[in-house]
Amino acid sequence: MTRLILATRNAGKINELRSILADAGLTHELVGADAYPDVPDVKETGVTFAENALLKAHALARATGLPAVADDSGLCVDVMNGAPGIFSARWAGRHGDDKANLDLLLAQLADIADEHRGAHFACAAALALPDGREAVVEGQLRGTLRHAPTGTNGFGYDPILQPDGDTRTCAELTPTEKNTISHRGKAFRALLPPLRALLG
Ligand code: IMP
Repeated sequence: MTRLILATRNAGKINELRSILADAGLTHELVGADAYPDVPDVKETGVTFAENALLKAHALARATGLPAVADDSGLCVDVMNGAPGIFSARWAGRHGDDKANLDLLLAQLADIADEHRGAHFACAAALALPDGREAVVEGQLRGTLRHAPTGTNGFGYDPILQPDGDTRTCAELTPTEKNTISHRGKAFRALLPPLRALLG
């Protein structure tokens, strides 16, 4: 059985990709970066989601000798020309301060009317092999930004993005409902053909 490593310490992401692989009949053993604690984290120096996902996947494949998958994601707001984009996790200045990031974005959009509040979550998922071969794919979840947060599930900007075709925000969806439509779920599922082609 081929071992495959996912560049994350987030158990939710590992379980999501594991179940997508299983549903597709792929029998690879998926482990997270925690299985190789000596491998250092990679600086995300790219300027696109795809570049950052590839950077992380190649670094992990080189360090472990295993095929590696990595993802990079963020929120892209139409009237902000795609910002916060790759800066989503540190929009308010401190990496991972979800509440500060969300509050700052809502303040920046305070005067923007409902019909101009379109946005999408974007995710790039990359596969890299130790010999340097690579594939990268993307997924999106489109929606509209609310004026105030609603819901307690999820993380990040989930409480303000209402997916198209729904009346709830992402933070009001169950994890299964979110995974079915999410940018990450779509990107991971789009990675199945390259996984089959490159790993057999
Ligand atoms: P990362 O790619 O997991 O590092 O995510 C980057 C940042 O984008 C997160 O810190 C969140 O602010 C935002 N983000 C990415 N995906 C989601 C999502 O599914 N819901 C809410 N926020 C997200």
